[in-house]
Amino acid sequence: MPTPTDELRALEATHILQVYRRLPIAFARGKGSYLYDIDGREYLDLVSGIGVASLGHAHAGLAAALADQARTLVHTSNLYYHSLQGQVASRLAKLSGLPRAFLCNSGAEAVEGCLKFARRYWHTRGETNRKGIVALERSFHGRTFGALSVTWDEHYRTPFAPLVDGVTFVPPDDPAALMAAVSPTTAAIIIEPIQGEGGVWPLTPTFARTIDEICQQTGTLLIADEVQCGLGRTGHPFYFSVLGLRPQLVAIGKALGGGMPVAAALISQEVAAAIAFGDHGSTYGGNLLACRAALVFLDALVDGGVLAQVRRTGAHLERGLRSLASRQTRILDVRGAGLLWGIELNSDAAPVVDAALGRGLLINRTAGTVVRLLPPLTITEAEIDSALSMLEAALATLRVGVS
Ligand code: PLP
Repeated sequence: MPTPTDELRALEATHILQVYRRLPIAFARGKGSYLYDIDGREYLDLVSGIGVASLGHAHAGLAAALADQARTLVHTSNLYYHSLQGQVASRLAKLSGLPRAFLCNSGAEAVEGCLKFARRYWHTRGETNRKGIVALERSFHGRTFGALSVTWDEHYRTPFAPLVDGVTFVPPDDPAALMAAVSPTTAAIIIEPIQGEGGVWPLTPTFARTIDEICQQTGTLLIADEVQCGLGRTGHPFYFSVLGLRPQLVAIGKALGGGMPVAAALISQEVAAAIAFGDHGSTYGGNLLACRAALVFLDALVDGGVLAQVRRTGAHLERGLRSLASRQTRILDVRGAGLLWGIELNSDAAPVVDAALGRGLLINRTAGTVVRLLPPLTITEAEIDSALSMLEAALATLRVGVS
């Protein structure tokens, strides 16, 4: 007798493009840091839809605002004004120090916008040969052609070649290689202040200093991709400022809508001045529903105390992970900040993800051997303790000596 999960898997197997290797589980509802599958089983969610459900699931304020907005007006396009885009952009300007925003729908689109605006800047200034982009090994910036072109993993890239021209990759811990790669034809350097998909690697202060120096010396623009690590995830509005970086372009997404698809490219005044009407656009970008969600999130982050809460809970999570690593020989390294952590194992992380799932804990594997934690920003210390004990139990199921 097929279960309801078997039935929906069979339907998807026939009609959904098979690009996702899903875990065999279907969720029906959520509340705070918990998700419930269609059979009513409870899971503590340390994935939050890959860093998206920033305020937890079924957040009452977000639900009420979306319902109200849906009853009032959802979408009008960018042919006209509405009252919410400017409010979102001005709050983002306050948080980032970058005065302008281009609103869009996904992280890849935000990156795409940043790449286009960087090239447009040099074009406007008459330096039409400045088109090169320097990106980092281990990077992930998204799946559209531009974003894919600055994404490192060959597995994602090769089937779709040729990609956008003019991209050079350098190792993320090699200042000399970076200096050698930046030339008078380089338009921009693109970095993730904490590389997320690549295995949760914060850039080192030394490497960040080199980036800053080279950008100041050559005028090369800096694009900070904070789609995963930005907007409070690390306990700071943006991680670029922790590293002392001064980007002209910042890509954000994920946490911004608390689950609604909304993202943005944040832009310095100097770059914005080089962009003309018609240079870029999006039908959906910054529609009323998306902006309403972003306003709820930004309110909660700053005035609602979520940022301060992440500093506290992030420190609690870090202490717990370091203590776990001291007891668990399978853990080689623990990296991250705030509520973004990677636990590097001495073997494939997939069996740990499966064992955790069996215990009612959702965690995620990235870069093969890394368990990544991206809980809702609203997770409590008690929930973190409960997650850590389930994680420890999941790690204990690995056969000793297998790697
Ligand atoms: N940039 C970074 C750093 C990301 O982590 C991601 C997604 O994981 C993206 C860009 C792409 O975002 P999206 O999947 O919303 O297009």
